[in-house]
Amino acid sequence: MCECDRCEQLLQPFLDRQLDEWERAEAEEHLQRCSYCRRRYVFEEKLRMYVRQTVAAEAMSPELKQKLASLRIAL
Ligand SMILES: [Zn+2]
Repeated sequence: MCECDRCEQLLQPFLDRQLDEWERAEAEEHLQRCSYCRRRYVFEEKLRMYVRQTVAAEAMSPELKQKLASLRIAL
């Protein structure tokens, strides 16, 4: 498995703070070296913030969810 695939797998639990310390260190180390994954990370973090704010304002529509999903793939 290539490192970036591994990093991608770790990204969601990383953002959810569900990794153990070794996995977290692994992800952090990779993010420091890899601008591609770092960009993904920053994007995911912003996306989460945005989603949190949106959910607080109103329940997310299926259309919006789909839009966000396609944004992710386009990155
Ligand atoms: Zn990477």
